[in-house]
Amino acid sequence: MVSLDVYNNIELVKYKIAEAAASVGRDPDQIKIIAATKGQPLEAMIQAVGTGYIDGIGENRVQEAREKKEKWPKNLSITWHMIGHLQRNKVKFAVQLFDVIQSIDSVRLADILEHRLELLGKTMPVLIEVNISGEASKYGVEPDHARALAEHILGLCPHLKLIGLMGIGPLTDEKKRIRSSFALLRRLKEELEEDLGVELPELSMGMSDDFELAIAEGSTMVRLGRVIFGPRRN
Ligand SMILES: *Cc1c(COP(=O)(O)O)cnc(C)c1O
Repeated sequence: MVSLDVYNNIELVKYKIAEAAASVGRDPDQIKIIAATKGQPLEAMIQAVGTGYIDGIGENRVQEAREKKEKWPKNLSITWHMIGHLQRNKVKFAVQLFDVIQSIDSVRLADILEHRLELLGKTMPVLIEVNISGEASKYGVEPDHARALAEHILGLCPHLKLIGLMGIGPLTDEKKRIRSSFALLRRLKEELEEDLGVELPELSMGMSDDFELAIAEGSTMVRLGRVIFGPRRN
């Protein structure tokens, strides 16, 4: 049952991504699918990755990721992305579990990560999470503070490789508002690239309800949960 659903869901998602990309003249192959798997069973995750269409797993909590990775099939390779708020006291585990951290939202977090990565002799691709929704409850740096954080990472955190920006759209049905928040993140990325003289290839934006709008605004990574797996189990 699960297997058929997951497979069909991913096929449909691929089709919708291709359509959204075509509508703005983009190459759909430049859009990665990160399966957002919080609260989803391991079997469904394995099936999703087994389709060959998934570019990464996105987990929100260190502990949940650890439990799942312990049982993950050794021969099924996939990159693990941290997409949830990372508590500073979990950083020492996170650097061992994840391949990419998408949710850097403070200088202090960047510094602690840098320290742990230096100890391990490892470099980690990271994204800065920006609060693009204007909603107070969301994590992420304010758009005005993204530049200072980017400069800090580029200048003082040699074990962090800044590859882009991540954002969560506002929780609303107003397409205009959602799209303008994605446009804000894209412009911010372009500004940083120009002002700081770096390339930031990744724009991680778009979830089940708004990934087509995000693609229209240049998303390179959509983080999809419910549209692949159905409702969360916990
Ligand atoms: C849960 C989650 C998603 C996916 O949400 P869906 O609406 O289920 O697609 C994406 N990004 C983050 C940060 C999440 O926490």
